[in-house]
Amino acid sequence: MAREHILIVEDEEDIRELMRYNLSREGYTVTEAGTGEKGIRLAREKKPELVILDLMLPGIDGLEVCRTLRNDDALKSLAIVIVTAKGEEPDIVTGLELGADDYVTKPFSPRVLIARVRAVLRRKAGEETNATEDSIIQREGMKIHPGRHEVIIDNDPVDLTYTEFKILHLLARRPGWVFTRYQIVDAVRGEDHPVSDRSVDVQIVGLRKKLGRYADLIETVRGVGYRFKE
Ligand code: CA
Repeated sequence: MAREHILIVEDEEDIRELMRYNLSREGYTVTEAGTGEKGIRLAREKKPELVILDLMLPGIDGLEVCRTLRNDDALKSLAIVIVTAKGEEPDIVTGLELGADDYVTKPFSPRVLIARVRAVLRRKAGEETNATEDSIIQREGMKIHPGRHEVIIDNDPVDLTYTEFKILHLLARRPGWVFTRYQIVDAVRGEDHPVSDRSVDVQIVGLRKKLGRYADLIETVRGVGYRFKE
């Protein structure tokens, strides 16, 4: 089976080689760029399905590359996985807010990189085919009815506030996807219940309490945000 085309943007040759070797072995077509400038050019030229983008690059840095790629209408369906050094959570947050789909922290094992790439490509593909705004989401004994603004756990309705419901629905619609606090605020903003990024944490505490045995479906991603368990 023909696999997807992946572009690696990374200036460190050893790491690029490690990525290329492992992705090729999985059957992906791989193109490499050592600078952000070249990365942008190759992304436009080759139209890969996914870009692995190191943030620490000479010249245009990775965040700028991410912004540029995301603002390019011709690259709407391009998946972006950013790569950062451990402890660079603020960069991860910025990258996600600029539209990156996921991230990997260095040092990473090839196995983790492949798993992340595969998951992002799968989620992207699924996103295009299903899950409209109003689809009912079910996870074991928990059902989320967006149309009715209702959550049922083991046949009993759960009393969520408007904001709690919005946050749960946002996360549950895209399992595995990490949302930063700002992205959560942004998604529920403009309603009767304004939230700050600090109060997102408070909302999550309340939400987990009400979800009872399903509380751990909402995972904390340290220093970055929250996600619904995949
Ligand atoms: Ca680098």
